[in-house]
This record gives sequence, structure tokens and C-alpha cells, in this order.
Amino acid sequence: HDNAPQDEVIRGTNDDATISRLSAVNLGYFKDPFVQFFVKRPIRRSPIINRGSYIRNYALDQLVRQFLNLDTPKKKQIIALGAGFDTRYFLMKSGQWGDCSQLSKYFEVDFPEIVVKKAMTIKRRAQLNDLIQNVRIEKGGIEFASDEYFLIGGDLREWSDIVERLVHYGFDTSAPTLVLSECVLIYLEPEHSSTILDWMTQQLLDCMFVLYEQIRPTDSFGKVMIRNLQSRRIELKGIHAYPELKDQETRFTRLGWDGAKAVDTKAIHDQYLERSDISRMARLEILDELEEWHLLAAHYCVAWAFKSATAKSQFASVQ
Ligand code: SAM
Repeated sequence: HDNAPQDEVIRGTNDDATISRLSAVNLGYFKDPFVQFFVKRPIRRSPIINRGSYIRNYALDQLVRQFLNLDTPKKKQIIALGAGFDTRYFLMKSGQWGDCSQLSKYFEVDFPEIVVKKAMTIKRRAQLNDLIQNVRIEKGGIEFASDEYFLIGGDLREWSDIVERLVHYGFDTSAPTLVLSECVLIYLEPEHSSTILDWMTQQLLDCMFVLYEQIRPTDSFGKVMIRNLQSRRIELKGIHAYPELKDQETRFTRLGWDGAKAVDTKAIHDQYLERSDISRMARLEILDELEEWHLLAAHYCVAWAFKSATAKSQFASVQ
């Protein structure tokens, strides 16, 4: 594969994300008893990065929770693109999310190399393995199936192959579906992320899409951010196609989705978080690089969009 060296670097971003999550968890920003199993060498991140991890987790959890709370006639499914070592499924199953009986299936897609590692970690750790029923490891380890939870090893740039595997495991295009994409589409050429979104637009009846990724590559901080990544051979291929909040919205609305909204991390921090939460964080760690925090927080966004054939009003209530 021509992309092999670049792909290896992109897979490495999953370790970065997991280490950052564990850093925030270990300092008490939020709870996740499972993430530790996916990190060999924990590293304490800076207060700015930890606060960013908290807000990312807070915002995405809020949106996932709203999806789970919608009252829909059919059972729901979740699919996480480039899920990496995401632990959300285990948090749900361990009861941290309350009643999740409306959820029928949870799919995760990532490169085979990541899926194999994740499957091995799950098998080795009773705390994870005990939460999954009837595990079957398939295709020499690049697929992991069970009653509800499925890991699919493949390349998002070969979307029709992924779709085939999803359908094989019972992905239901008529079920209310949440698509999660945390720092993933940004690594794909826009043509590949468009293929995925076009498919969802055409095939899924009731769909909510939640994404988190970098924005604003062209101001001075954005340029530094891009340059730092490039020096590690990481390219954010999609960022120039969707550089601003409004671009993240129109990537859905121009396809005819019923609604889309994008906000940056700074706005979530300043407008959505409880003040008590901010003082709680200030007690965990002093964040005195306020200027740098504002710059960083303006360069990450959460976007959510919905399209619906049957439950328009319900999806529209998500905010
Ligand atoms: N979503 C996880 C999180 O937020 O912790 C992981 C994010 S990590 C920055 C990006 C993930 O996307 C990696 O696990 C990487 O392997 C996956 N990824 C990127 N390009 C991909 C592709 N073409 N096919 C499958 N997975 C891909």
C-alpha cells in the first residue's frame, strides 16, 4: 500500500489520544476505569491538554446521552469511525450510563492493526471481557464479534468493504443510528470522508452524526499546530476542506441533512460548562497559560448533525 508509512503515523495518533485521556482521568477530571488497560506508559499531560480532554469527553458524552435518551420506536445502534481504544462501550455496559437497553448494537471501525490490539487487550482483561457476551474472534483476529459489540478491522478509505462487514454483522440502516467520529475524518482526503457521508445520507433513515476535530488551520496558531504535526509526519488532510465552524455545518446541510451545528471548544468551556465544573477543574490543577488555552480551544470543534425520516422532532431536540 502506497500509504503504509503515513498510515503507521496516523495509527500512532490513537496512542496519543489514549495517553491524554488517561492523564485527565488520573488527575480526576473524569472517570474511566477502563482506559488504563490500553496504555503501557502513562504520561502526565499539561493542564491545557487535560482541560481539552475533559471538554471533549464532556461534550461528546452529552450528545451521546441525548441520543440514548430519545424515545424511538426501534432499538438504536452506534457506530464509531476510527474508534481507536475508545472505552465508551465498556462504560455503558458497566452501568456508568444508566439504562442502555434501547441500544441494540455497537460497532467500531479502525485499521486491522488497532483492532487486533484492542481485541487482545479485551481478551486479557476480565474487567473488559466480562462485559461482553459470546465473543467470537474472526478473520485471524481482525474482527471481533459478540452479541452486541463488534470491532471491524479495515480501511475507511475502502468504505464499500466496511459496509459489507457491517451488514454481515447486522448493521441495520433502518435503526436510529449514532455515528461517532473523534479526530478521524480529518486524516482522510475529503473525497474519502465525502464517500462515507454520502453513503450515510443515502442509506440511513434516522441518523445523528457527532464529530470532534481540529479547525482553523490558517491563523497564526493554526499554522503552528499544522507545522508541529507535519514535523511528526502527521497530515490533517481534511482540515482545509472544512476549516471553519460553518464549513463543518455545511458539510451536512448541503447534503440535505435536517440540521447541523458546530461549536468550538472555547465556546463549550465558556458557555456550556457549569461554572462549578470550571472551579472544580481549577482545584485539580492550576491552568495559568490562559492565553495559550484560548488559542488551543479555538482550534477544536464539536459538530453534530441529524437527518431523520421518522423522528425529525426528536433529533432536532438535541442541543
Ligand atoms: N477516536 C479515537 C479517540 O478519539 O480516542 C481515536 C482517535 S485517533 C486520533 C485516530 C484514529 O483513526 C486512529 O485510531 C486511526 O487508526 C484511525 N484511522 C485513521 N484513518 C483511518 C482509516 N483510513 N481507516 C481506519 N481507521 C483510520
